[in-house]
Amino acid sequence: MEIMIAASIFVLLTGLCFGSFLNVVVLRAFSGESISYPASKCPTCQKPLYWWHNIPLLSYLLLGGKCYFCKTHISWQYPLVEAITAILFLLAFLKFGMSAHLIFLWAVIFMSLVIAITDIKEHVVFLMHCFAFALIGLIYHAGATGIMALNGTEITWLDNPLSSSVLGLIFGGIIMLLYFGVSYIMAGGKMAMGDGDIYIAMALGACYGREKIWIIIVLGFLIQALITGVLFEYRLLQEKNYKLFGGILAVAILAVGYGLSNKFGLFEENVIYLLGYTIALIGTAIYVCRQLLGKVLGSKTEGLAVPFGPALVLAGFVVMFFNV
Ligand SMILES: [Zn+2]
Repeated sequence: MEIMIAASIFVLLTGLCFGSFLNVVVLRAFSGESISYPASKCPTCQKPLYWWHNIPLLSYLLLGGKCYFCKTHISWQYPLVEAITAILFLLAFLKFGMSAHLIFLWAVIFMSLVIAITDIKEHVVFLMHCFAFALIGLIYHAGATGIMALNGTEITWLDNPLSSSVLGLIFGGIIMLLYFGVSYIMAGGKMAMGDGDIYIAMALGACYGREKIWIIIVLGFLIQALITGVLFEYRLLQEKNYKLFGGILAVAILAVGYGLSNKFGLFEENVIYLLGYTIALIGTAIYVCRQLLGKVLGSKTEGLAVPFGPALVLAGFVVMFFNV
């Protein structure tokens, strides 16, 4: 027990350090500087930082969220990224234990966060990051396949970790490329999504393998739809459009209720319940669609575009931690 607590604290500290490094990787991707040189400096006054300005979380608190030299406000995003990295590192350790697999998962978590953060902050996906991410997946699975072969485990050319990784990369690319093409045509020849999403899906495919990349992409769409829905509802509240807000909320609740009723077999016992429920759900949905067509479409739906990259990354985490 005590060993477990000590190990957990060690993992948290490791995670914080990597979170701090992650901030550097993201910042220097934008500025185009090397990640190892020069030493960290204040982005405003350019003064090089002292060593004690670089301690994850602690420095932010010690400095009161301001630059030591010029007192410029330091973004809360830096300590937040450090904390999120540390927590994900710890969760992976608690779930998978200390092993070579854990080191691989930490690398996956690290690269996933780098890509999600650049996408959220500036709507940019760096090819270099996706390339490194894909390489991590391919190398790890090549190593795992090599070890299996050395141990005399029977493997076929299709059924081994490396093939799964390569196929995952290819599938991820093909699915997103198809989606890219369809949305391009549907948007009337305009770019409806960034091609960065294709590279993200390929990297995730290389890391998670051919079976899980499908789940990740479907889950990614669901997560994106959910986030967009929540943002849309928030905007409706701001605009005091309570009819549409309530309508969408009702559809969401009824849909969840439908799923639960189905899962627990309530419909099988009672046909009238099923009929009533279905009519209520469809009726509310039609009401919402009419409200949508009348008031919102074409006027204020812009600016609601949620980048797909972070949704994909999040879907990957769900698959990693919940064995989906
Ligand atoms: Zn400064």
